[in-house]
Amino acid sequence: MALSGNLWPIHLKPKEDELLSSWLARSAEAFSMTIFNFFSAAFPEWDLWRHDIDSSADDSLLRFIAEKTGTLYERALASTFRPMEGLLYESHKTTTQNLWIMPLSMVQINIKRFTLQCCTSCLREDKVPFFRRAWRIAFVTVCCKHRCMLRDRCHACGEPVNYCMTKPRGMLLTQCRQCGSDLREAPITSPEFDRPMWYQRNLLSILRKGWANVPEYGPTYSHLYFNGLHTIMRMMATGRKAEKLRNHVVMVMEGKHPHFTGKQHFIEHLDVNDRYTLLGIAQWLFEDWPNRFIEVCKETGVYGYDIVQDMRGVPYWLRSVIHHHIFEPQRRASDSEVEAVIRYLRNTNQKISEWNVSKLIGIKNLFVNRKKKLSDFLVK
Ligand SMILES: [Zn+2]
Ligand SMILES: [Zn+2]
Repeated sequence: MALSGNLWPIHLKPKEDELLSSWLARSAEAFSMTIFNFFSAAFPEWDLWRHDIDSSADDSLLRFIAEKTGTLYERALASTFRPMEGLLYESHKTTTQNLWIMPLSMVQINIKRFTLQCCTSCLREDKVPFFRRAWRIAFVTVCCKHRCMLRDRCHACGEPVNYCMTKPRGMLLTQCRQCGSDLREAPITSPEFDRPMWYQRNLLSILRKGWANVPEYGPTYSHLYFNGLHTIMRMMATGRKAEKLRNHVVMVMEGKHPHFTGKQHFIEHLDVNDRYTLLGIAQWLFEDWPNRFIEVCKETGVYGYDIVQDMRGVPYWLRSVIHHHIFEPQRRASDSEVEAVIRYLRNTNQKISEWNVSKLIGIKNLFVNRKKKLSDFLVK
């Protein structure tokens, strides 16, 4: 079928909140082509495989698709993540990963990465099944409409949901590329608790409004709120005290042992159950912000530098809490404390060195930035 005319012979329109990749994958299906063949035939000028198309599509590509499908440019633009700039994150990146957006693998890679999620019930209800933009946002783990967990893998073989990877010709958008099972036949799982779902609903509303109200701080731009939330969720997922923190929070929440299997460095790479656990923890912390956060950090011995090494990217509403409440005060040793340790070292015939004195007092690099040096103590 010729794809060179002004309008493609079959010109599908995007559905409400449909991803560009889903829209194009449906178009390929309508032409009975694999997505790879469709991209090569329809977009010979563009190299669409290099980057995640939902983030990287530029104006010229979107105008081209809009023209070929008889769609308004604005509708085509709304199928990408570009309108999330200033709402979900500060500035949109076209060639690298954006905060919160789960990475979409366009080409075969060896690592099995969860990239797309779906609601079985939504897909079943759709006259024409399609994938929503919201399903690629890492804090979205449940379908609020159907009150069920989203699915990120095939129910039969465990293969991550991904319609962008090459599939045999004629295979449907909802079919697993590995075993052919249809996601619409997958079992439906209810979330263990309702609260993360309410919180997710709240987050989606913040994303629409463009601002959030932070208790004891006031209104802030939504992207600053999401940036802080991302920092907190990352600290619960990948920080060096993450496991201790998660276990403590869940114990205080009187919940069951948290589901958490992720060893990934990015929360966007975690599976749906791990992200759901993190969302539940974040919801509980924000229920009494910032008191619970401060208390949990103090109880578990977490200091500012455990949360974030570089404060420059942290929004002020979170930075001020860390700075005023979770900052480890620099412990200083008094002169008499140093003198006592020197006496002890001398009496026990041990070497009197800066390292030994610092070690015994328990303060790293005790003499750095100290007016009185070790030699001053040794002068009789
Ligand atoms: Zn649903
Ligand atoms: Zn499968």
